[in-house]
Amino acid sequence: MTATRALIVGGGPAGAAVAIELARAGLPHLLIERSRETGDALCGGFLSWRTLDTLARLGIDPDQLNPARTTTVRIFAGSRVAHAALPRPALSVSRRRLDTVLLAAAVAQGAAVERGVTVRAIEDGQVRTADGAVIAAPALFLANGKSDVRGTARPASARGADPTLGIRVRIMPPPAMARALAGQIDLYLFDRGYAGLAMQEDGSANLCMAVHRSRLQEAETPADLLAELGRAMPVLGEWVAAIAPDATIDAIANVPYGWRQTTGQAGQYRLGDQAGVIPSLAGEGMGIALASGLAAARAYRTDGAGGAAEWQQQLARTLARPIGVAGAVRRVAESRGVARLIPFAHPVLIRMLAQATRIGA
Ligand SMILES: Cc1cc2nc3c(=O)[nH]c(=O)nc-3n(C[C@H](O)[C@H](O)[C@H](O)COP(=O)(O)OP(=O)(O)OC[C@H]3O[C@@H](n4cnc5c(N)ncnc54)[C@H](O)[C@@H]3O)c2cc1C
Repeated sequence: MTATRALIVGGGPAGAAVAIELARAGLPHLLIERSRETGDALCGGFLSWRTLDTLARLGIDPDQLNPARTTTVRIFAGSRVAHAALPRPALSVSRRRLDTVLLAAAVAQGAAVERGVTVRAIEDGQVRTADGAVIAAPALFLANGKSDVRGTARPASARGADPTLGIRVRIMPPPAMARALAGQIDLYLFDRGYAGLAMQEDGSANLCMAVHRSRLQEAETPADLLAELGRAMPVLGEWVAAIAPDATIDAIANVPYGWRQTTGQAGQYRLGDQAGVIPSLAGEGMGIALASGLAAARAYRTDGAGGAAEWQQQLARTLARPIGVAGAVRRVAESRGVARLIPFAHPVLIRMLAQATRIGA
């Protein structure tokens, strides 16, 4: 058995944020991450203005991620479109880039990071890894995001009766299309789902969808669904036509949108998607991951492992509004009649909703 004072499970945005802050404070810790190499996690890649504030507090310069800014949102439904300026500039970045920069920043601060180690179970106060090792840690930071670990899994009921899938395809657009999308994020609303589209720092456009299983089953395959949506929304259709024939379409199942951890447990700080899952239409999941990582590390610095229970309940209260508002917006956005509501999507209303779904540092 090995021991560490504080164990961080997962090196995504939440885990990296805790590691940066604990290393800065000189507090002993170990971060374990299952992947040996940083991949390009399935994500829309939109970092809101509030998330950029949190990144600044972690010492990350947004220009390292992408020097270009996103200032406008366009919302399409059927043949209708609404647009609005974002409250403040945001940016789009690939997860490969973001996760690489964050973990590198943690290591530069002196964080202890071990890669290629997968946690299999957290039971009876012990952490078991896939290679059979046992790690004892009085303080646990659960930052394993989309994946669950035995003993701390989010309830199956959180997925809902008609679970949601995430689907992502990268498009290398011709220069004229890339220029037309520069500075904007496009949201395409449709029955039981939405797609987001934005240019990223590597010159690719990220087309990322959240769609209910029943809707995907009707279309049969992700490629069929994209083709169908492209026919219904011609602006999207141009992008669907630009998808390379051999492009990979990535998917993840059972995203528990709307779920929040409302109870606390001494010694266990749950962060990011392990604390609450905001509908991705809001583009604030990474903001929650980073802000919760930063806040948990600060709570641990002052209150130690024993402060986790109270801190978790406080985080649940903080997340109630953004997750609740995003859930209500999502229900409207993925309803059949949403195109009829687009004329009422005044820029002031869009900006108000965009503000109400944010979390601060
Ligand atoms: C379709 C879709 C689109 C989205 N778009 C956006 C967007 O545009 N903007 C936004 O802000 N958010 C978006 N999100 C949400 C965002 O992706 C998540 O909220 C965010 O990644 C959560 O960060 P995290 O650090 O909690 O978890 P993750 O990013 O999932 O990171 C978890 C890390 O833990 C590691 N890990 C997992 N299990 C183990 C284990 N057992 N042992 C060791 N390591 C482990 C993983 O390898 C990973 O590195 C989107 C989500 C979806 C599904």
